[in-house]
Amino acid sequence: MVIRIYDRDPYVFEFEAAVTSVDNEYVTLDATAFYPGGGGQTNDLGRICGLDVTDVTSKGDDIVHKVPGHSMRAGDKVWCSVDWERRYDMMAGHTAEHLLFGALKREVPEIGIVKIFIAPDSKYVIVDRDVDWEVIERAQTSVNMSVIDNLNVTKSTMDRGDPELENVRAKMERIDGSVVTVVEIGDVDAAACSGMHVRETGEITAVLVDRKVSAGKDGYAIHFRVGNDAVARSMELANKCLRIVDIMGTKPEDAVNAAQNIKKDNDAKTEQLRTLLSQTVAGLRPETVGGVPVFSCVLPVNDRNVITNAAEKIRSTGGVSIFAAGGDTLSVYVSSASKNVDCASILKDVLTKFGGRGGGKNDFAQGGAPDASNADIVLNELLRRVKDALK
Ligand SMILES: [Zn+2]
Repeated sequence: MVIRIYDRDPYVFEFEAAVTSVDNEYVTLDATAFYPGGGGQTNDLGRICGLDVTDVTSKGDDIVHKVPGHSMRAGDKVWCSVDWERRYDMMAGHTAEHLLFGALKREVPEIGIVKIFIAPDSKYVIVDRDVDWEVIERAQTSVNMSVIDNLNVTKSTMDRGDPELENVRAKMERIDGSVVTVVEIGDVDAAACSGMHVRETGEITAVLVDRKVSAGKDGYAIHFRVGNDAVARSMELANKCLRIVDIMGTKPEDAVNAAQNIKKDNDAKTEQLRTLLSQTVAGLRPETVGGVPVFSCVLPVNDRNVITNAAEKIRSTGGVSIFAAGGDTLSVYVSSASKNVDCASILKDVLTKFGGRGGGKNDFAQGGAPDASNADIVLNELLRRVKDALK
């Protein structure tokens, strides 16, 4: 069985070992500091005999290193080095995850952890419910206080039946064996974990939560950054925030309220616009061509749902509709209950002349053109084509 150096001392990243077996690109050693991944943390990378280790995985009791192009043989003594910057970042990330979830749990005692993920370019914890940004801010402050306090991170083992385990965050159903490895961070956090952590929280430098996204039925993924990455991202986001505040003409402390008011106002205006559009199309008078009622209109704004509904309603009652809606670009909709009008081909013909395109079926087609100021000309051209088809 391989000696797992990372379990004894996660700070060892250069070591000598003997090759125990070779299978094509795959090499096993008598001892390794390469973490094969697990507990949400990605595997290590590095070099063996100066060659890149491109993957490390567990295989039974062994750890297998993928080393393309090697010529090692069983019994060889080899010099190995783990990509330390990458690993150290994950150790800091893993420790930060303990602090972050611990702090979230102090804020929301009923919160549960679903999954963690720690890799160089992505670190997150999935929790079983949504958490307000205000709660996240308080948790983040607490985490960074723990980083400033430079707390000791210690590992110990406890018996599965130890009553003291009550005070330890642990998913006992996920732990094999009778002994539980417990990681304590100062007196602020204790959790069962056999992963790799830093010795002191000051090594984390800083923790920033920079994203919260739905993880579907699992809950919400709270993404965070550590170290210089967290500091750089904090500054970048602070600057973006100040630019937004400047555009809104408000102060940072009022920005959230101001943004909420703008959104509320915008939602209400969109609703009013929809109502107005619906009323406009409902009040249209058709002209009759070849016995078929033809509705046509240039609309000042585009709302796909409202206009599509109106076009379908007109078609279902035996008519033809042509709508040209303005906005940043021109949007055009044609519907027809008459087989004589081929909506798709007429629309395509006309829009092509105006640098646009469209598509659909015989009875309904939609498309667009870049210049909304052509709305009247496009509408008249379409109307002429429809009338020709109906005569
Ligand atoms: Zn851990």
